[in-house]
Amino acid sequence: MAKYLKNKPYGNQRWRNAREVFLSRYPLCAHCAKVGVDVRATIVDHVVPHNGDPELMWGVENWQGLCATCHGAKRLAEEVGYSQACGVDGYPIDENHIFNKGR
Ligand SMILES: [Zn+2]
Repeated sequence: MAKYLKNKPYGNQRWRNAREVFLSRYPLCAHCAKVGVDVRATIVDHVVPHNGDPELMWGVENWQGLCATCHGAKRLAEEVGYSQACGVDGYPIDENHIFNKGR
């Protein structure tokens, strides 16, 4: 089961149904909402990457709806270790961003 979840968790009917129900209940992107913008969520994201762990995979408390842009940015941040997002001043807001390391 764990191997199946790790390798192909999103193609099965259980996930498709759960995703559909979640997005109908939480239709807005959670990250955009934090900055006061209403954008339709199209992706159910795992707040903590599940890496095949069934509890993190299926635990709704670990889910959030995201738009494709925010999901892509989150994935990139997980890979490089910091967010690329910038504030209204144009500077990166994540204190772990390489720009902020020497400040
Ligand atoms: Zn968003």
